[in-house]
Amino acid sequence: MSVVICENCNKKMKYVYKNMSQIEQMKFYCCPNCRLLWTPKLEVNTSFQSKLDENNREAALKNIRSKEFDQVNNLIKKYLPKGRGLDVGCAYGWYMKSVHKNYVMEGIEPEAAIAQKASKDGHKVYTGFFPQDMPKEAGIYDFIVFNNVWEHINHTSKLIKESSRFLKRGGIMIITIPLSTGGLYKISEFFEKVGRTKELIRLWQLHFHSPHVYYFTKKNFVELMTKYNYILLECQDVRGLDPKRMRERFEMDMDEQYGKLKARLFQMIYPILKKLPADKAVFVFRYIG
Ligand SMILES: [Zn+2]
Repeated sequence: MSVVICENCNKKMKYVYKNMSQIEQMKFYCCPNCRLLWTPKLEVNTSFQSKLDENNREAALKNIRSKEFDQVNNLIKKYLPKGRGLDVGCAYGWYMKSVHKNYVMEGIEPEAAIAQKASKDGHKVYTGFFPQDMPKEAGIYDFIVFNNVWEHINHTSKLIKESSRFLKRGGIMIITIPLSTGGLYKISEFFEKVGRTKELIRLWQLHFHSPHVYYFTKKNFVELMTKYNYILLECQDVRGLDPKRMRERFEMDMDEQYGKLKARLFQMIYPILKKLPADKAVFVFRYIG
């Protein structure tokens, strides 16, 4: 097996999550220095077929995501009163719809049918992957938003560099990502260590067509971005779970048989979970390249 090098600090990464690796037939690596987690061989399944139940996905995510979007929009307003923005991985266009009319939004989305739905509200939506499918005429933007998308794209340093090509100097990058320092992540990691892999497999979304390729910490993510001429303006915790919508959240996985029971258990432990470190954060950077 070839050596896997950390994109953040160039250290040799260690093979981790042996139980999950064995079951999923793929290898996970962790940097002993900065704790960046990476599964370099994971690719997006472009057939877009998976065990993801779209109806439950919508019911589970719509409310909580709109709360997240308010958080993102308040941050944009703080640093940029108006401008033209790109929503990478815009899905159904929910986020673009939430943006104030002072901003002109465009999106890019790999699934053609979904991209078409997103464009129904009048936003320009490109079909394909960012950045390789962005047309030249798109030009450069005042801000770029990655809402729960960044962690799905492989070769993160390349993604930072290529994003800069689409961003004005002084432009804003807003990125929401899940964190490996979160309470739920730590619990799932502990379960994996003792042989129960289900929770960690779900967090990495390994059975969905677009799994997570990375898990970051706040510290290593800021370090990475800083290397490529981004300065951190602000980072806020995001509470991305809605205790009232957990059944749908569990049942997004078509194989899930105990969604109702698990949702009840979740509601019982939610007051404790709420006090643990957040499982997600939103970062605002300024590009000074
Ligand atoms: Zn590292």
